[in-house]
Amino acid sequence: MPAVSLREILQPAFEARYGVGAFNIVNDLTMAAVLDAAVEVKSPVIIQVSVNTVKMWGARLIQQMFAEMASRRPVPATLHLDHCPDMEMIKTCLAAGWNSALFDASSLSYQDNLRLCREVVAFAKKHGAGVEGELEAVRGIEHEVDSDAQEELVPVERCVEFIDSTGIDCFAPAIGTAHGLYKTKPKINFERVEAIVARRRTPIVLHGGTGLSKETFKRLIAAGCAKVNISTMLKITFGDSLKNYLEAKPKEYDPMKLQKAVHTDLLNMAKGFMEIFGSAGKA
Ligand SMILES: [Zn+2]
Repeated sequence: MPAVSLREILQPAFEARYGVGAFNIVNDLTMAAVLDAAVEVKSPVIIQVSVNTVKMWGARLIQQMFAEMASRRPVPATLHLDHCPDMEMIKTCLAAGWNSALFDASSLSYQDNLRLCREVVAFAKKHGAGVEGELEAVRGIEHEVDSDAQEELVPVERCVEFIDSTGIDCFAPAIGTAHGLYKTKPKINFERVEAIVARRRTPIVLHGGTGLSKETFKRLIAAGCAKVNISTMLKITFGDSLKNYLEAKPKEYDPMKLQKAVHTDLLNMAKGFMEIFGSAGKA
């Protein structure tokens, strides 16, 4: 079916408390595998793309590939630009027909973030697209902090003000998750998700999904996390799949067979998450 908006995917998920996986694809093979997983388990899906992937392939090619692949599959799918601090890149993608973007102004002051995020929302509206907003930087393995250290959190009331005055479609608060692989068990701030959702019925976005337990996913989704980002696990599956295949068949030079093996492993990885998130059967 033709691509749908981020809101059309997230609103029913938020209301019924299931999560929709947003998988950071890197090329045609990974995009097809994630979409095929959605078809197999009848799940809505978010095809998410990092800035570096856009730089490699170009906004137009990714959008056209997505439009073509999505139109041939009977599940709701949307194309989303992940963590982008570059206003020009966001505008290029949205003007090229992408469905939504995360404007990442977490390094800016609150006032600048607010002002620029409003500009992104206004531009997105003109193009029928949606926007994910955030106020705090999501921690990453490269800046791992002492797990006992208290994070400087934006007060919940300010998050609500940000949601209201920007008009974003979903919000990504800092809740103790991190990008990359967890070295120690993360301390998840479930209460923060509950507090924001109690004040505003806005779908919450969970960053740093790779490595969280099934129970953590389920609790966060029950609290209102409707978009669940999976990036690191896709990269690991991709790499391991290639490695395993070539180790098992060092004389196999047919790229089609190699790609088929990777496709199967990626498909199973994505299906597994869709089952855990409860989105399977919802398309
Ligand atoms: Zn993220």
